[in-house]
Amino acid sequence: PVSEAAAGAILTIDLDAIRENYRRLKARLGGVNCAGVVKANGYGLGAAQVATALIREGCDIFFVALLAEGIALRKAIGTGPDIYVLNGLPPGSEPEATAAGLCAVINSGAQLKTWRVAAHDAGRRLPAAIQVDSGMSRLGMAPAEVEALGGDGGAFDGIDVKYVMSHLACADEPRHPANEQQRLAFERLRAVLPEAPASLANSSGIFLGPSYHHDLARPGAALYGINPTPGEPNPMLPVVRLHAKVAQTRRVEKGAGIGYGHSYHAVGPLSLATISFGYADGWLRRSASAAWFEGVRLPFLGRVSMDSIILDISALPPGKLREGDLVELLGPSQSVDDAAGHAGTIGYEILASLGPRFHRRYV
Ligand code: PLP
Repeated sequence: PVSEAAAGAILTIDLDAIRENYRRLKARLGGVNCAGVVKANGYGLGAAQVATALIREGCDIFFVALLAEGIALRKAIGTGPDIYVLNGLPPGSEPEATAAGLCAVINSGAQLKTWRVAAHDAGRRLPAAIQVDSGMSRLGMAPAEVEALGGDGGAFDGIDVKYVMSHLACADEPRHPANEQQRLAFERLRAVLPEAPASLANSSGIFLGPSYHHDLARPGAALYGINPTPGEPNPMLPVVRLHAKVAQTRRVEKGAGIGYGHSYHAVGPLSLATISFGYADGWLRRSASAAWFEGVRLPFLGRVSMDSIILDISALPPGKLREGDLVELLGPSQSVDDAAGHAGTIGYEILASLGPRFHRRYV
């Protein structure tokens, strides 16, 4: 952990807001169960801390992307909750996965066979979710492969099929025809395992309505405050605040070249502040953006450097902003989704990119 004094920037993560977002999603889902997706270290915010907060809300199913993430999460939260590895288990890693008590996400007939053998070797039934490709073409069994399973009486021997699942490609565009096409394809494919509970919806999928809810929803982004209904007011609470420290302030004269490449020249005398924060902290270099201090917008000038960004602070009274003061990069003045808009990306990438050098404060 990085101390507050030693850090160039401070990331505040509001675990109560994550818990409230989970409650809001549960309310939308009626009685349907709700997992927590905590891959990529909980979208950059700390998988262990997020999962621990969600467990307090009764969440007992988590999804990670990689086996390594699953093993780390199991160590952090102990036995009890189910942890699914979305990208599947790399060949040969089955003993490690079973030792950590993880649930496989089976993405192919070959993986199903391997998991069957692992169950035989372990001498017990092993838990799995069968992922089918309902039309995203990314992960999961192809329709022909799923249909072939229907004729194979022993296909699931030794496997405790917890869920049949699939993932939506266009859920954040409610009117996209792919949503209904995928839902119908999923209904057809899950018929191979009619008794097994089903799971389709991610965050945005929850807002497509009850026909997308099935038996389990798998939100990630919405838990972290990213708007699951783009173009409409965000129904979730913001979760992160990010502040960077002022390293130095200065006055420059008209014409001064500012930052690498002198991509900007002062149009008149300017007051500048350099903050200890840059692209090494995950702030995209291409992002034309700003920081805020007491509600005043302080635009970036010139290029984003690895460890510093130059701000125009001329809108503040002289001497108002001093070395060591904190300016806001994410928070009430600029949401994660706003920052993503300025950078030409999505909130997911902003959060997942947040660097390891921050002092992290959980509140
Ligand atoms: N389910 C699967 C299979 C995913 O890959 C993801 C994330 O991409 C999620 C659920 C969570 O999606 P979201 O963060 O949009 O809620």
